[in-house]
Order: sequence, then structure tokens, then C-alpha cells
Amino acid sequence: MADATGILVFGDAPAGQLGSTAQELLAAGRSLADSLGQELTIALLGADVARAPQQAISQGADRVLAVTSPALGDYHPDLYLSAMQSVVTETNPGIILISRNNEGRELAPRLAFRLGVGLAQDCLEVGVDTDTGRLLANRPVYGGSAVAVVSCNQTPQIAAVRPKTYEPLDADSARSGDVIAYPVDIDASEAKSRVVDVVQEEAAGIKLEDARIVVSGGRGLGGPEPFAQLEELAALLGGAVGASRAAVDSGWVPANQQVGLTGKTITPDLYITVAISGASQHMAGCSGSKAIVAINKDGDANIFKEARYGVVGDWEKVIPALTETIRELTQ
Ligand code: FAD
Repeated sequence: MADATGILVFGDAPAGQLGSTAQELLAAGRSLADSLGQELTIALLGADVARAPQQAISQGADRVLAVTSPALGDYHPDLYLSAMQSVVTETNPGIILISRNNEGRELAPRLAFRLGVGLAQDCLEVGVDTDTGRLLANRPVYGGSAVAVVSCNQTPQIAAVRPKTYEPLDADSARSGDVIAYPVDIDASEAKSRVVDVVQEEAAGIKLEDARIVVSGGRGLGGPEPFAQLEELAALLGGAVGASRAAVDSGWVPANQQVGLTGKTITPDLYITVAISGASQHMAGCSGSKAIVAINKDGDANIFKEARYGVVGDWEKVIPALTETIRELTQ
């Protein structure tokens, strides 16, 4: 699109508050906008976005479009896509950032297709080439063993950014920006698909991706039962339990506990891995952890190259001793 300029990010406002992925995208978008000397706009989609626009401005937006319609109350891919296409046509941005959360995984490729442009999927970082002003998107390739830098030749350039790869900016109430009401006229009957049922994921305790401490188990645990011991340790630490894909594929824990390239990306303060070898695909989901502690009986396991602290030993001895010590220290 000719004369396209500015950075546009899409976000939501569940219960009237700025969504966590929207906050992360604002951080990514702010750095691009500053590098290019352009404006950062966030389009907030929903039936009512309440106080979220002011929050978006305090966290980096120059301009907020409150994209509202009764049809946008519950997430529906066809209807959200219509609203997004309408916003892009109206605002003509040079760069669009979308979260690669569950919704973004289906919306980003469909939006790119409708606009007839490319898409940089699953980006870990976005930047700009200061000579050309083009978007440079870092994304994992070869199963997470390498990172490719991708640039799209058409405009708008779209990147889907992996959740938890950007820290939200601290809120600054002194920041100012424009809030523009952008009601959209969406005919819900035009949706090609129908949402038959919405099943709420059962959340016991802290969500894995929000936990500041995560204890993950791998194939070396040998079965599902030892995860009860990891649950006990995680509960003592106020954390959550994750797993390697090998443990998930073995049916020991549900898929929503998988950490890694094809699982969740987590950035806890403390990540304790138990009987996990540290394959690159696992590390792709946890390398942003502030400190990794590895427990593995094989001193040559790759995880020890990634860990700040390591215990070479059998988990069956180490975990009960560690749990007992923490229990004593916390009582
Ligand atoms: P293993 O590699 O088998 O390691 C088990 C470890 O347990 C070993 O290091 C062993 O020394 C140790 N051990 C055994 N017994 C004990 C004991 N008694 N005490 C202490 N230590 C012990 N993997 C992921 O985790 N997440 C992903 O998202 C993911 N995505 C993938 C995507 C693709 C495209 C591909 C190809 C692979 C993906 N994988 C992913 C799989 C990944 O390559 C590894 O196979 C997997 O991470 C291995 O899991 P693991 O470390 O539990 O098992």
C-alpha cells in the first residue's frame, strides 16, 4: 500500500483491562516506532474496551483506536478478522504486530492473506533496518536450532510475535495520546464458521505462563506418578508445574503443560528442570528464564550448558531432599 506509515498493534481488553499480550506488543511496537520516528497505534477490539485505552497510552501507545461492536463481545475469528481488515484499510500502517497467542495464530495468516502480503510467523524479536526502514523479524528455524532474520517485501509488513518474549513497559501516567472511538458495523450473520461451544481450560493454581517459579519434569521421571512430587515442590514454592514434550507425548501430563518450541514460552524468575536433557526445542520455550536449575543424572546432558546451577544426581534422591529442605525453610 502506497504511503503506508506507522506501527499498528492489535490487542484486546478482557474485562476492560489491557490484555497481557497487548502490553507485550506495545513494548515491541514502541521500540520500532522510536527507531523509525513514527507513531504507535493500538487497535483494541471488543464490545467495550472500558479503561484499557488510558492504560495503553501509559504503556507506550501514541494513539488508541477503540474498535467496538456488540459482535466483538466474544472472540470469533471471522468477525475479528473483518474488524482488523477495516482498521488496516482505514489507517494504512507500514508495520503490523499481532500476538502469536491462540487467537493470533489463526488471525495473522488470514489477515495477511486478505491483504495479499507476507507474514513473519512466531517472531522472538522485531527490529528495523535503519537504512531501508524495513522490518527485521527474528524467528526460530530448524526446530529452534537457529534463528532466521526475515524481512517482508510487501507493505504492510506483518509480524506475529511469540507471547512472553517482550516485557511490558512500566506504566507512565504522564504519557499522553489520542483515544479515537472506532465503532465498526459488523454483521454477525456473515460469519462463515459457527462457535459451537467454548470450553474453559481448568486452571488449578497459578497458570504456567504467569508463574514466577516453574518446576518441569521430563522423560527421565519414568512415568506420570513422579509429577505428584513436582506438584508438591511447586506448591511449596508458589509455582507451577511444566513438562517436556517427551513427558506430554507419553501421556503423563496434559499438553497445556508443555514448555518449548511447540509448547508454551515461559520466562519465570526460577526454572527447575527435573530429568530433562535440554534439547534445543525445549530450551526455545524457557531460555528467557532468569535462572535455570538443572537436576539430571547425566553430567554431560545439554541442560547443564544452559543452567546457572546444576545437580548431577538421581531425581528420586534429589527431589525429596530439596522438598524437605524448602519445607523446613518456609515453615
Ligand atoms: P530426554 O531427551 O529423553 O531426556 C531425559 C533426561 O532424563 C536425560 O538427560 C537423562 O539423563 C535424564 N534422566 C533419566 N533418568 C534420570 C534420573 N533418575 N534422575 C535424573 N535424571 C534422569 N521438546 C520439548 O520439550 N518441548 C517442545 O515444545 C518440543 N518441540 C519440538 C518440536 C519439534 C519440531 C521437534 C522435532 C522436537 C520437539 N521437542 C520438544 C522434542 C525435543 O527434541 C526432545 O525430544 C525433548 O525435549 C526431550 O524431552 P526430555 O528432555 O524429557 O527427554
